[in-house]
Amino acid sequence: MVANSPSKLDRMVAEARRNAKEREQSYREQALKIYPWICGRCGREFTRANVRELTVHHRDHNHDNNPADGSNWELLCLYCHDNEHQRQLEAAGGGTNTREDRRGATHSPFANLKSLLADKKR
Ligand SMILES: [Zn+2]
Ligand SMILES: [Zn+2]
Repeated sequence: MVANSPSKLDRMVAEARRNAKEREQSYREQALKIYPWICGRCGREFTRANVRELTVHHRDHNHDNNPADGSNWELLCLYCHDNEHQRQLEAAGGGTNTREDRRGATHSPFANLKSLLADKKR
């Protein structure tokens, strides 16, 4: 049973696809080599059977920042990884809300100051 030799284009497409996949997988494989297969949040342990549920989180959220010493990587299970990013989104949303609250709080003191200055000028 000899398969038809694939055309040059097919080979190139297959190779490009494999290279992209390897690039995507490379930091994950490196991180799995450096770190024990344990979720950094909930402490769940992983084995070869379920390691696909263990994901690589980028501490600075920059997926292009992949130092070889793994300092930007953190192994998290799917659930904790989801939570981690959810918290980031909520923190960003909460940040704008408190800033708006503060702006509201400073509004009346400034108004007082303005009238005080106005009084002095008179
Ligand atoms: Zn976890
Ligand atoms: Zn992440």
